[in-house]
Amino acid sequence: MTIKEIIKEKPDGLIARACKFSQKAHIGQKRKTGEPFFIHPLAVAETLASWNMDEETIAAGLLHDIIEDTPTSKEELTKQFGPEIVFLVDGVSKLGKIKYAGLSTKIAADAKVENLRKMILALSEDLRVVFVKLADRLHNMQTLSALPPAKQKRIALETEEIYATLAYRLGMQNLSGELNDLSFPFLYPKEYEWILKNVPGKYEERREYLEKLEPQVRQMLSKHNVPWFNIDFRAKRYSSLYHKLLRHEMNLDRIYDLVAMRIIVKTVSDCYGALGAIHELFPPLPGRIKDYIAMSKPNGYRSLHTTVIAEGNHFIEFQIRTEEMHRNNENGIAAHWLYEQKKKSGGAPKSKNLSKELSWVEQLRNWQEKYDSTDPEAFLHAMKVDFFRDRIFVITPKGEVLDLPVGSTPVDFAYHIHTAIGNTCVGAKVNGSFAPLDRPLRSGDIVEILTQKNKLPSEDWLKFVKTDGARDKIRVAIGQKKNALTGRRTPTGIEIKLTVQDRFGLLKEVTDTVTRSHINIRHLQTIHQAGSQFPIIKLQCQMIEKDKISKLTIKLKKIKGVREISHILI
Ligand code: MN
Repeated sequence: MTIKEIIKEKPDGLIARACKFSQKAHIGQKRKTGEPFFIHPLAVAETLASWNMDEETIAAGLLHDIIEDTPTSKEELTKQFGPEIVFLVDGVSKLGKIKYAGLSTKIAADAKVENLRKMILALSEDLRVVFVKLADRLHNMQTLSALPPAKQKRIALETEEIYATLAYRLGMQNLSGELNDLSFPFLYPKEYEWILKNVPGKYEERREYLEKLEPQVRQMLSKHNVPWFNIDFRAKRYSSLYHKLLRHEMNLDRIYDLVAMRIIVKTVSDCYGALGAIHELFPPLPGRIKDYIAMSKPNGYRSLHTTVIAEGNHFIEFQIRTEEMHRNNENGIAAHWLYEQKKKSGGAPKSKNLSKELSWVEQLRNWQEKYDSTDPEAFLHAMKVDFFRDRIFVITPKGEVLDLPVGSTPVDFAYHIHTAIGNTCVGAKVNGSFAPLDRPLRSGDIVEILTQKNKLPSEDWLKFVKTDGARDKIRVAIGQKKNALTGRRTPTGIEIKLTVQDRFGLLKEVTDTVTRSHINIRHLQTIHQAGSQFPIIKLQCQMIEKDKISKLTIKLKKIKGVREISHILI
């Protein structure tokens, strides 16, 4: 149903009210395309409606830019639409605050992208937030040409790497393909031109050929008593075609599924019946029969694929599946989500807080189990969700994402950014309101640290900080504070003296051993003594804990070539 139809059916319903409210709130605002802004939330809501989402999600789509882009406050929105809608809208705004290009972590780019995908899921708490965000991104991509070129590239890259992949992982193949196709011309303009010049003619040729075969296929299916709903032709998407062409010397004749014939049947056994019928008609190409029904892809995709040799020695691909499989292949977890909801509420698509009963991790697991009972962990593994079971993702006011252990406090956050910020921290704002320094942070919190010059950390902080980094730095700073008060120096670190037998690679092993123990090296010096064949390595480290020191010395002693070891506090 379109939004118009929904409103006609329920003129006082939630969606009608959200529509009116959004139109009014965005009045006078324009998009970069010059169109009225309201076009955008409406398009997002239409997409959500086409995915058969529930009323609340569609309403959230209509309202998703209200808090961010209009003077309407969260309180006002809560008064009008209740906490559930505001929770969804707020979630979408939070995801919008994450900056892709500005991530300042030291980990490799791949891990960074993976982290970001996981974070989007983790931050969402409720999968419906992800659905709204994906619909939002889809429309932004459809209107991307209105933006300046540099921005186009950044957004297209983010779409390809983060959102299209996320959609794919969630089994939303249709959306994932569309996002990739929309990014493609911006990311690979030359390749896109090549495809425009070479492919449409081939598509036409292939389609005409398949249309000529169709009557034979129908006949053979009838002969085998296989009832079918639909036979159609699926042209491969430009973006995925391009990536496949790269593996096949850009030779279009080697892409057998350039246009595939797709047969939709009623039952699983009809799928295999149809496969037999096709193979009676045309000999299959060995090694090209793929049974994704018995063994679904990790993202839940199910279908039978076979490539056959048809008249005139043409290779063509058939895809055979049931209607339900088809729907799930196209819409993935979105389709499943609705199904679950309808089942629970007995047919009426109205169910409050359903997804809050189930965490998104459980939602994913349920969905995955439905498609692959042989390996229910496969999908979760692909998502690597284990990783963030004990991690939270918090956001700096600049939109950078920090990844901290569960239970971390604003003080941990402050030290994670910079020692000086930790040391001079006097207060914190979490999501815009003042928060105590010992309050555990939650995924998605936007944290701002208030500092005051010449302040020093309090010893009490040691009672609640969660990270070793913060604890060590507080101790060091407190030590310095005591020194200043008493005039005496308390040690803030150690100097380790190693007498070694010089060999290639030894120094690196020593430093690796120290850094692997997460100990900061302040200073390193190799001294070659006259008359001795054994040089001395002096290593100053930032740590004073006895057990840590003895653990480290044991490790250092084990290194080949280390003859003597001693240390003093400094
Ligand atoms: Mn938007």
